[in-house]
Amino acid sequence: MLLNFVSRMFSRDLAIDLGTSNTLVFVQGEGVILNEPSVVAIRLADQSVVAVGREAKEMLGRTPGNVAAIRPLKDGVIADFDVAQKMLHHFIERTAGRYRALLRPRIVIGVPSGITQVEKRAVRDSAMQAGAREVYLMEEPTAAAIGAGMPIQEPGGNMIVTIGGGTTEVAVLSLAGVVYCESVRMAGDEMDEAIVQYVKKHYNLLIGERRAEAIKIAIGSALKGDGERRTVEVKGRDLIDGIPKTIVVGEEEIREALSESVATIVETVRVCLERTPPELAADIIDTGIVMAGGGALLRGLDELLRRETALPVTVADNPLSCVALGTGKVLDELELLRKVALGR
Ligand code: ADP
Ligand code: MG
Repeated sequence: MLLNFVSRMFSRDLAIDLGTSNTLVFVQGEGVILNEPSVVAIRLADQSVVAVGREAKEMLGRTPGNVAAIRPLKDGVIADFDVAQKMLHHFIERTAGRYRALLRPRIVIGVPSGITQVEKRAVRDSAMQAGAREVYLMEEPTAAAIGAGMPIQEPGGNMIVTIGGGTTEVAVLSLAGVVYCESVRMAGDEMDEAIVQYVKKHYNLLIGERRAEAIKIAIGSALKGDGERRTVEVKGRDLIDGIPKTIVVGEEEIREALSESVATIVETVRVCLERTPPELAADIIDTGIVMAGGGALLRGLDELLRRETALPVTVADNPLSCVALGTGKVLDELELLRKVALGR
């Protein structure tokens, strides 16, 4: 207790949401102070870092031959170890530099639930190298549920659906542990890719993943909405004559493009519900399903899940920062941290 108090006086502990699309850093006593895309631009000749975060994301699909913009966690797992380490190191330095403390920080990191032993070690090592005193890892769904304010320490069943960039994770939590979890590599990135393919097939137009993401956020939906027919202008390169061209696409078209991704997400929730132990499933009828992650913001997805499951469905207050808020909360509750931290 006293030691805890003393260490808090002299160090600012950090919590990190290491996401496939976005990385957030939470500083104890401050809140989320960094929120950047998980992208690193690397100079190929010497593997040096050219840019990290927003600036590097701007470069996706636009880099000259000697620079590569890389998403090190692209498919829900750590696809590029070295680059992931560099990114984590950069973000920790950037925040720790602002909160120079006497003691090195403890760091809690939220990681995808499918992470392997080797990946865990890589994440732990890079945080240690970046100056951590101790590193704790916790699973993303647990962090998201805590961040969304769900009472996961109690014996009742809680279902959280986290739709990120690389994966959708559906988890049932009880007594601070994951009772059951389904994870699929179908989330925001796949939706973007589906839009790229749709525009290519129907308009012979080639667009990049960033533009596809912008279309999704602007007019994407999972269900027929309020009757308003939103459209968006899309610029790309014509596949036939190779010339830049502008087209207009409507929300029905994008809904069609996204329908397969959306169906997979709904199916995953259904499978998870079927496999949940009956006592907990009964709890979920009362408590309902909470959605988190950026994909939870897709228009109409909550309503669709409500219709398909006949359960109450809500979107967390801050779906994009739930994981960071959850890992941050755990910094202040040692007891809870011990329960949720992943073993080595
Ligand atoms: P991760 O945890 O994998 O980093 P996030 O929870 O940060 O993922 O969510 C990022 C994903 O959410 C991206 O694929 C992004 O395009 C998507 N996203 C963000 N805002 C919206 C929105 N309004 N509608 C649909 N998808 C969105
Ligand atoms: Mg996330």
